[in-house]
Amino acid sequence: MFRLPMVPRVLKQLFNKPATNPFPARHLPKSITRFLEKVAAGKAELVLPLEVPEGFRGKIGYNPEGCTACSLCARVCPANAIEVNREEKTVTVYAGHCIQCGQCTEVCPKNNLFMTKEFLTATTDRYSEEMVLT
Ligand code: SF4
Ligand code: SF4
Repeated sequence: MFRLPMVPRVLKQLFNKPATNPFPARHLPKSITRFLEKVAAGKAELVLPLEVPEGFRGKIGYNPEGCTACSLCARVCPANAIEVNREEKTVTVYAGHCIQCGQCTEVCPKNNLFMTKEFLTATTDRYSEEMVLT
C-alpha cells in the first residue's frame, strides 16, 4: 500500500506555533533604526529576545580586580583577543576578536574572565569602548 508517513507530521505542524522568536519585530522592518525610533515613540512593539540557556557563551567579560597579569588567558586564546602587559600589570580583552570559545575563563586562576549572556554585540567599530575591556 502507498503510504505518506510525513503527512500526519506536516498537518500537525500547520497548527503548531513557529519555534523561532521573531526578534526584534514580528515582520522585518525596512529600517531597524526607524523601527527603533517608532518603538521609542510607542508606535511599534518590540519583540523581546528569549532568555538564553544556562551555560550560554555570550560576550566575554573581564573583571580586573585581583588580576595578576599572569597571561595564562592570553596563552590559550586561539583568537589572540587578549593582550597582557606584564610590566604594567594590565590586561586588554578585545571582545570584537573573541570567538567565545571560553578557554580563557577555564584557565584563569582568579576567575577574572567570564562569559556573559549578552549576544547583541553587532557593531561597526570592533574597537569601540564597549568592545575593548580593560
Ligand atoms: S589568566 Fe586571569 S589572572 Fe591571569 S592575566 Fe588572565 S585574567 Fe588575569
Ligand atoms: S573566550 Fe576564547 S576567544 Fe574569547 S577571549 Fe577567551 S580564549 Fe579568547
